[in-house]
Parts: sequence; C-alpha cells; structure tokens
Amino acid sequence: MLRRLVHIAILALLVPACTVNPVTGKSQLDLMGEAQELEMGRQLYPRYTQSSLGEVPDDGLQTYVDRVGLRLAAVSHRPEIPWEYNAVNDPDVNAYALPGGKISITRGLLSRMETEDELAAVLGHETGHVTARHAAQHYTRAMLTQLALVGGMAYMEIQDVRYRNLYALGGMIGAQLVLARYSRDQERQSDHLGLEYMTAAGYNPEGMVDLLEILDGEHRREPGLVDRMFGSHPLTRERIEDARARVAALPEEDRARPPVRKPFLQHAAHVRETREAYDRLAQARRLLADEQPEKALPLLRQSSDEWPSDGLLRAFLAAVEADRQPRRALTDAARAARDAPKIFVVQVVAARVFLEDRRYDEALRHAETAGEILPDMADVELLRGMALEGLGRYQDAAWAFRRVREIAPDSEAAREAERHLQALSGA
Ligand SMILES: [Zn+2]
Repeated sequence: MLRRLVHIAILALLVPACTVNPVTGKSQLDLMGEAQELEMGRQLYPRYTQSSLGEVPDDGLQTYVDRVGLRLAAVSHRPEIPWEYNAVNDPDVNAYALPGGKISITRGLLSRMETEDELAAVLGHETGHVTARHAAQHYTRAMLTQLALVGGMAYMEIQDVRYRNLYALGGMIGAQLVLARYSRDQERQSDHLGLEYMTAAGYNPEGMVDLLEILDGEHRREPGLVDRMFGSHPLTRERIEDARARVAALPEEDRARPPVRKPFLQHAAHVRETREAYDRLAQARRLLADEQPEKALPLLRQSSDEWPSDGLLRAFLAAVEADRQPRRALTDAARAARDAPKIFVVQVVAARVFLEDRRYDEALRHAETAGEILPDMADVELLRGMALEGLGRYQDAAWAFRRVREIAPDSEAAREAERHLQALSGA
C-alpha cells in the first residue's frame, strides 16, 4: 500500500496527462502530454543525430529522405506534428524514432537498400511508433525521472572523458536513455501502420517484405552490424511471415506498382559506394570498444585512404593514432575537422588532439566549434576551459570550469573541472 502511494506520488509529480491515442482513438494515461512530447523530440534530435555521428554530409540525400518521410507522415494518423527525417553517419544497420516525430535512418541501413519502397517501409515503421505514441507509453517514467533528477533536458553527458574510451563513442550522448526496446505488440503494430502508410502514399507494399528480408539476411551474415536495430526492434520470422500475409491480402493493383528504384539508387549512390569503408568503421568501433586499437588502426587507415576527403573516417583514424603517432594524429585531426565541420565528434577529437600537443589556440577553436554544434555539453566546456587555461586566460577558464559543474554536477567532468578550479585559485 505504502509502495503504491509512493508510486502515485511520483506519478503526480511528473504531471500525468490523459491523452487520446491518435491511432486507437482510445484515451490513455500518459506521463507525457503532447506539448511535452514535441519539446522532448525537438531537444533530443540534434543530440541523437550527433551521437549517431552526425548527418550524412549530402544535402541531396537529406532532402530526399525527408521528402519520402513527409509523404508518409501526410497520410499518417498525426499529419500535423512537425515531422523530420534525416540520414545519419552511423555505420551500423539501424533506424529510430524520437518522441514528437523526429526520425533517423543510418547510413549502414541505407547502403543496403535498393528501392524507395524499402526506404518508405523503414520510415513508415518508425512513423508508426510515433503515431501510436509508443514512446509516450514506454519511456516516460524512466525518462522524466531522469530529466527531473538532473534538472532539465539540456543535460546529456559524453560519458567518457578519456582518450581510449573516445573510440567507442557508444554512449557518447546518452543515446541509450530513450531507445528502449519495444514490445512485440508494438513492433507488430508499427509494421502494420508502416505498411498502411506506405501503401496509402503510393508505394509498393512488397517493399516492406523486401526490407525485412534484407535485415534478416544481414543478421545471418553479420549479426554485429544489425544487433542494435534488433535490440530496439526485435525481428522474428513471424514478423516477416505476418508482413507477407498482409501484403498478399492487399489489392492486386497496389502490389503491381513498379518499385521506385532509380531515384533511390541515384540519391544513395555515395552512401552505397562507401559502404565497405563504413562497414570497416563499424568493425573498428567494435574493436575499439573491446580495447583492441591495434586491430582497428589498419581498418581505419584503409577506409580513410580509400576516401581521403571523408572527415569522419579520418577523425576516427586520428583518435587511434593519437597514442601512437602523435604527429600524424595532428595532421589527420586538422584535416578531418576541416572536411567535416558539422560533425560534433570530429571537432571533439580535434580539440583533444591539439590540447594534448599544447596547441591551445587550435584546441580552443575546435572546442568552440563543437560547442556551436551541440551547446551545453560538459566535456566540451571542460576542453574549452583547459584550452583557455593553457592560453593564460584564467578568468575565462574558471568560468568554463564552473559551467561544467552547472551542466553536469556529479560527473567525472565536474570533478576534473573542480581540480582545475582549485589549481587556478591556488595560483
Ligand atoms: Zn520498431
């Protein structure tokens, strides 16, 4: 009884809202009202995008992915919310939806598809998670509690301050916070909604079956690449059979629509061309997470040599070189930062490599660029403070260190900032 009361008290604290589910038309008790849902999506999207290694630097592709997504959103149960769709650099096979209609598909998945219909199937499935408000039902308690505890949504911390952990970048921005595992029922419902939306938007429904087959095939061939997608969207044989049966029951004229192949292959050309290089990056990241940088290094070097103007590949190379060949790391980090000015992690790597070499001007510049991409990141403020300290700008440095404590109290970064503040006040 007491436990129940406490439970209710916590719920009350989090302002529960009763909302009508847009798909079922039934009212449900959500901890998150629609305004909150939209705000959460708006706040989290840039951070998730950067924790997925930033947007693929290809405006044509971004516009294309967004356009396909918006066609689905327009025929969905919630056409009025501010939908956004993008393609991110993550080399793993994945796609995810944030509350409020912010959806991302990874480069790893895009590079394995061949038609716009398959793309519409993935985006339609993710759109279904949003229209059915799975997130609102699912994550709210855990998320809102976390957010309440840390005093606001701006709080997301890069988990690892140290060099060697930078390699993995897995939990860099706390992405695991929202991407919980959906239930089987939610997955099935999203498959149904996805199929409904893509068919209504004029695509060939067979694209859904093709997509699920691609995922299943990849899973057999190389489980590691698909694991994260399967973590949040478990794929079973049953899901594939279910999709097949539903598609077969659709009108013949829907299934007879010609698949949209050419525009897809055109827009995805670069992503497909660089697929092997990015598969190596995926493999290298797993090796780095497993603390095997010596095995990751040749893979990263090969990819970077193949695509010399790809700043992201070069930044990973620089990060691994830093402990071994610091001169090369400097050259590579500088070049990567120039070639990928909008990717957060690239700027952070550059700031660290230059800081290590006591080149404070450059370190400061890259930390500031990182701060423009994602403001209020504790570890970036820490880097900025250290660069300022190195430049002898002690007051500015102290201000940055105090900011670290504000953004992320109780973090490793805050403790590090505290040490610097004490040293500064003793000086
Ligand atoms: Zn799903």
